[in-house]
Amino acid sequence: HPVYSPMALRQAPHIGPYQNQDVLQLQSKAGSPYVFYLNLAAVMSGSTPLNGVTRENMYRAWQSIADQYSMFNLNVTTNVAVYNAARAANPLRTGIINFINQDGRSFAPLHSFGTTAAGTLYRNPGSGFDYGYGIGMTGAHEIGHQMGMNHDGGGSGGEYFEGIAAYQWGPIMGNYWMGANWANQLWTWSRGEYTTATNK
Ligand SMILES: [Zn+2]
Repeated sequence: HPVYSPMALRQAPHIGPYQNQDVLQLQSKAGSPYVFYLNLAAVMSGSTPLNGVTRENMYRAWQSIADQYSMFNLNVTTNVAVYNAARAANPLRTGIINFINQDGRSFAPLHSFGTTAAGTLYRNPGSGFDYGYGIGMTGAHEIGHQMGMNHDGGGSGGEYFEGIAAYQWGPIMGNYWMGANWANQLWTWSRGEYTTATNK
């Protein structure tokens, strides 16, 4: 599990350790009219995650997604009431991804933020990663498609760039699974700051 610095513990709500929050009430930027809803309903029984997933891991899945959108005025939430209110006010400011209780290959419709078309997030374990972090990486990638981004390709990875091992860096819209072999992976958005980039 990650070790948090003292500074991280004082930061925004999506940073820091799990402190027994209700995982169906999470909001990264409460009050923002722009809302992205991570719908956990199908993988929860009441307040308990299904399939032996801990609440801490469910929290970290949300946290890992919220982190990647924290520079925007966007509330990444697991609270359906927050989503429904924002959608009723203005659906053009909302998006949704459904976490479903099946294994499969996650996918999402391109440019679907601002519509009610949902992405689909499967429950597969993040192989090689902490479960919540692995699901969070996939969620951030799929929501990236919903925000209009295509894949970061190039090099031997083809459509999915495999990162730069020397820096333990990889693009979220590329093959972020490569980092499972690295001790301290950094994964970020990219606008093609590497020589073989296919997407700038
Ligand atoms: Zn993709």
